[in-house]
Amino acid sequence: MKIFVYVSILVLIFTLSVFSQYASATLYDGTKAAVSVTFEHAFSNQLTAINSNMSDMNATVAVIAQRVGNNGYMTQQQLLDLQSKGFEIASHSETHYKISSSTPSDQLYYETVQSKFDLEQMGLKVNGFIPPLNKVTTASFVLIQQYYGWTEFFSPITNSTYHPEYISLQELDYSKQHFGIYNEPIWGVGHGDTLRTFNDVKDKIDYAIANKLWIAIKFHGIVTTTGTYDTSPTIFNNIIQYIREQRDAGNLLVVTRSEGVGLGVNAPTISYTLSDQTSCESAPISGTWDGVNSCTVLSLATNSGDSVTINSGIVLINSGTINNSGTIHNFGTINNLYTIHNFGTINNHCGSVYSGTAPTGNPVLSIPCPVNTVISDQTSCESAPISGTWDGVNSCTVLSLATNSGDSVTINSGIVLINSGLLDNSGHLNNTGTINNIGSIDNGGVFSNSVNSTINNSDAINNYDTIINNGTINNSDTIHNYEFNIIENSGTINNNLSSTIHNDGTINNSGTIHSQCEFTYSGTLPNGNLIIDGCVQCIPDSGDWVINSSCQLSTNETISENVIIQNSSTLIILNGTTLDIDFTTKHLLIKSGSKVLIKSGGKIN
Ligand SMILES: [Zn+2]
Repeated sequence: MKIFVYVSILVLIFTLSVFSQYASATLYDGTKAAVSVTFEHAFSNQLTAINSNMSDMNATVAVIAQRVGNNGYMTQQQLLDLQSKGFEIASHSETHYKISSSTPSDQLYYETVQSKFDLEQMGLKVNGFIPPLNKVTTASFVLIQQYYGWTEFFSPITNSTYHPEYISLQELDYSKQHFGIYNEPIWGVGHGDTLRTFNDVKDKIDYAIANKLWIAIKFHGIVTTTGTYDTSPTIFNNIIQYIREQRDAGNLLVVTRSEGVGLGVNAPTISYTLSDQTSCESAPISGTWDGVNSCTVLSLATNSGDSVTINSGIVLINSGTINNSGTIHNFGTINNLYTIHNFGTINNHCGSVYSGTAPTGNPVLSIPCPVNTVISDQTSCESAPISGTWDGVNSCTVLSLATNSGDSVTINSGIVLINSGLLDNSGHLNNTGTINNIGSIDNGGVFSNSVNSTINNSDAINNYDTIINNGTINNSDTIHNYEFNIIENSGTINNNLSSTIHNDGTINNSGTIHSQCEFTYSGTLPNGNLIIDGCVQCIPDSGDWVINSSCQLSTNETISENVIIQNSSTLIILNGTTLDIDFTTKHLLIKSGSKVLIKSGGKIN
C-alpha cells in the first residue's frame, strides 16, 4: 500500500509542474529515467493520436511555421490548446528548407530565427529548435545559440562549436551527457526508421530505465500507411501505454524537451574512483576488466562538476570516445587509443602516465609531484625552496616563502623559523618547532602547530583556510580569521597586551584562549570554551609600589611612596582614572622594557 501512495504523490507533483512549461524544471532526483515524446511537423494525425492517448502526459511538438493551419497540419488554435495542456512548442523552421554551408545568411536567418518570431506572434512560447533533416551548420548554430535554449544534433560532439562554452546550450550539453544522450539518445519511430516495432521502442525505454537516461522518441505521421517515417496508431498507442505504465510505476518521468534540459541541470554530480574490477565494470565506467589492472572503455561521459579518479596502478584504456566536461584525476595510466574530447580538465598527477592520442580541446595538465620540505639544519634552511639565512645555531630567517597547494614545509623540533617578510602558505605548513613571526603569514592552506610547538606572532597572521593549533600561539599583534575559514584550537592561544583577534569565520576552541589587558576581540565569538580574561587590576602596595606584571588601574589612587615598573610590565591607566604621586619627594621609575599606557581621559598628577 505504501508504494501506491508514494507513486500517486509523484504523479500529482508532476502533473502540476507540466502546466507551467517555463517554470523552473522538475527537480531530477537521479533515481529515474526520463522520456521526451516529440512530434515533428505538427501533423493533424498526430493531434488525433495525442487526443486519444495522452490526456495525462505532455510532449514537444516541433512546428513548421509556414505550415500551421495548412491541410493536414494542426491549426494555431490547436497548438495553443496543446500548449495550455503543458505541451512544449518548438520551432522546426519556416519552410523545412534543407540548409547547407552555402545557404545565404538572410535565408538562414529566416528559417532559423524568423520561424521563432512567427510562432511567438501566434501566442506560442518557443524555447527550442529542431533542425529540419538534422542539418546544422556552423552559421546556423551561431543563430540557434543566440535565440534558443536548446537544439538537437545527431553528431553533437563533432561540431567543435557545440561545447560548454555556451551558457544556455551548455545546459543541454550537460543534460545530454548526463543522461548519456550522445549515444543514440533521440530515435525516430517509423516503418523504415531507426525504431520500427513496439519492441524496438520498449528496448530503448527499458535501457533508459536501467541506466537512468534521458531519451527522446520522435514521431512523424501517425497513420496506417507504410511511409518510412510513419508509425501505425496501434504501435503508437502501445508505446504511450508502456511509457504510462513505467511512469506510474515510478520508473521514469515524462518531460518536454525543455524540461529535460532542466533535469540535467539539477541532476546530481558524480565522483567516481576506478580502482578495481568492480569499479571498472560498474556504471558509469561500464568497462571491461583484463583480470589484472586495466579497464577498457568504449564510451564515457562526464559532466561539469563530475570527477573520475584513476587510482595509482590502474590503467584506463580508451578504445572509443570519452567526452569529458568534468575532471579526470589520473594517478595511474590513461592509454587513449581513439578519441578523448576534453572540454573539462584532465589532471595527470605526479607519477601518472598519459599515452596514446592527445585529447581534442583542453590539453592534459601535468600536476607536479608534491614538494615536501623539512627545515632541520643549516643546509635545509639555506637550500631552495626555503632559501633562508642560518644564524649558526638553530634559527632560519626567511624574507619570503611560498608553499604551493600539495606541497608542505615542516619546521623540525628544536628549529626556529623567523619570518621577516611574507610567508605565503597554500599547502601544508607544519610547525613542530618554533615560528617567530615578525612579518605576515598568509595561510591559504593548512597551518598546523603541534603539541609542544610555539608560534610567536609579533605582526600579522591572516587565515584564509585552516589553522590547527595543538601547541601554543603567543599573539602580540593581530590574528585575522577571514570569512568561511576556520581556526581549530585545542592548545593555548595567549593574547598579549594590546593584541587583536578579528574573527569573520569560525574559531572552535576546545583548548584555552587567554587574553591580557587591552586585548581586542571582534567578530564572531569562539565556539566551545570562553576566552579567559587575564587582565588584572592594579593593587598598590603600602611602601614603594613595585609593578612586576602588567595591570590596569581603574580607580583613583594616591601613592605616597615611589612607583617602580619593571619586568617588561605595563601600567595602564584607564579613562577617568587618576594616579596621584607626590613628585616633590617621590618618583615614578619605568625600567627598560616596561611602559605606562595612559588611556585618553586618564591622568598622572
Ligand atoms: Zn522535419
